[in-house]
Amino acid sequence: MPIKPSVTPLSILQTCFGYNGFLDEQETIIDHLISGNDALVLMPTGGGKSLCYQIPALIRKGTGIVISPLIALMQDQVDALKLLGIRASFLNSSLDGAEARRVENAFIAGELDLLYVAPERLLTDRFLELIFRTEIALFAIDEAHCVSQWGHDFRPEYIGLSILPQRFPRIPRIALTATADSVTRREIVSKLGLHEARQFVSSFDRPNIRYRVRLKDKPRQQLLEFLRFEQDDNSGIVYCQTRKKVDDTARWLSEQGFTALPYHAGLTSEMRLEHQSRFLQEEGIVIVATIAFGMGIDKPDVRFVAHLDLPKSLEAYYQETGRAGRDGNPAVAWMVYSIADVILHRKMLELSEADEKFKQIERRKLDALLGFCETTECRRQVMLSYLGEKLEEPCGNCDTCLEPVESWEGTEAARKALSCVYRTGQRFGAKYLIDVLKGRQNERIARFQHDEISTWGIGTELSDDMWQSVFRQLIAAGYLNVDIEGFGGFRLTPECKPVLKGERQILFRHDPIKVKKKKKQKPRFPDVSDMEVDEASTLWLKLKQLRSELARDQEVPPFLIFQDKTLRQLVQVRPSTLEEMRGIFGIGEKKLQRYGPRFLEAIRKEV
Ligand code: ADP
Ligand code: ZN
Repeated sequence: MPIKPSVTPLSILQTCFGYNGFLDEQETIIDHLISGNDALVLMPTGGGKSLCYQIPALIRKGTGIVISPLIALMQDQVDALKLLGIRASFLNSSLDGAEARRVENAFIAGELDLLYVAPERLLTDRFLELIFRTEIALFAIDEAHCVSQWGHDFRPEYIGLSILPQRFPRIPRIALTATADSVTRREIVSKLGLHEARQFVSSFDRPNIRYRVRLKDKPRQQLLEFLRFEQDDNSGIVYCQTRKKVDDTARWLSEQGFTALPYHAGLTSEMRLEHQSRFLQEEGIVIVATIAFGMGIDKPDVRFVAHLDLPKSLEAYYQETGRAGRDGNPAVAWMVYSIADVILHRKMLELSEADEKFKQIERRKLDALLGFCETTECRRQVMLSYLGEKLEEPCGNCDTCLEPVESWEGTEAARKALSCVYRTGQRFGAKYLIDVLKGRQNERIARFQHDEISTWGIGTELSDDMWQSVFRQLIAAGYLNVDIEGFGGFRLTPECKPVLKGERQILFRHDPIKVKKKKKQKPRFPDVSDMEVDEASTLWLKLKQLRSELARDQEVPPFLIFQDKTLRQLVQVRPSTLEEMRGIFGIGEKKLQRYGPRFLEAIRKEV
């Protein structure tokens, strides 16, 4: 798209992308780059990183080069830009020689606004030579945390990108990542030579994600209720720990009438690719996956991420749930967990080959996650504080905010439980300990003569479930350790002392009883009256159908045509002319011309 000198970032945002205003720091970053400076941008997933380099690339002279490690995503990104009328292409190993040559020629001829390349391609002598001969607007280094050797996404070729400032000192660079921690940030700065770059660090809060965590109690049933009553027809991801569980859960969900597809490293690559692309292309697909499914899934309308098993750390949980709601619309992060999950993780860790230092760090991370699960406070506050941010007020959009947890004074119960662990020799698990506390007789208790100790029968005031909950919370709070090498018996930690001496007060949370059944909800449209809801729903379905048809014809995912938010606004506004359509979220000039008439016709027929 030829850009005239008079265009401003805001006018491009509005006419080309169809958005009203910038988010957060986008505008400052864009101005900073247009003036020829370097930047390091840390923004959460869904924060709107891409515009930060796309708009400067359109305004500055020459082509913007985007370095991305995810070959699978380049095609989607380029498709999306083309639909907006932007001249974009990509170069990677998926192109054959002739196709690559064509792209290179367009690049040299100055016919591209944006060119996406894989780092290994960029670093070839041949390509560096091309860059010398061509006008370059900027370099954008996406997923910049890939330079970090300690991260999970390490890509050795990223280290080679340090030559860019040496070879092309005048071309501005912007590095972007959604990884929050300061260690990774320092590594990016030093490995990519970004010491002079201004750093833009956004809040990592994802306010549209509602966090909900429950104890496991018939997990399949819990999942089914969540999906049936709240997420019908929505796209989402269900994470499980093992491949087998992924397969079983996907099969079972299919039997329950969902379109559920498995995804894990044990499937053939064709099958994985097929399931991934159906997830992108079709609506209402549930992907059941191990964590092998994740990076590289750039789908903005994932409405939920459900965990049937505990992830291994709070960072991992943040990253995995962050795949929900990139479009900024409400999304849910839902999890069920049990102490058995924690014990399993600990066991795997202890059995691993890692050194003691590493194990210690991992243990602490797991503890932090358990603390998040067990908290009676705002979950978002706990999460953000772990990520090094402070949220002043409770968020109002997590389960503990919405249904505050009741707590009970448990100092006495804690002392009884801990003494019972001590008196029985610190080698038994919850079930046995509860039998002793409740004063039961059985063969094992008789054998160990535990009906003769002082804690036998001192706990009749609480039910078995309550005692279970007490032991679980004592573990979560670090008063008890689980003996991993032995048979999983509980042991006291030094933290217990003040409790046993009666110097520390303990509050336990009441475990919520059963979930209330919810009525199936119709899609809600905030701006229409109750009378009009039916009409709105019909129109909504019609527009979705039209979007699917167009997407199929053009072989792109539906969300590239229009996002849900755009369709929703169309339902609310019901424009009857193209002029009225202008200004609706996500409808820029190009899409107005291309799709406007079809959507107007559909609206006219319905209304
Ligand atoms: P990230 O790369 O940071 O995960 P994206 O660049 O993919 O985020 O943007 C996330 C979503 O937000 C996309 O659907 C994008 O179109 C939308 N978006 C970005 N900037 C704006 C804006 N200024 N106004 C409205 N929506 C925006
Ligand atoms: Zn909250």
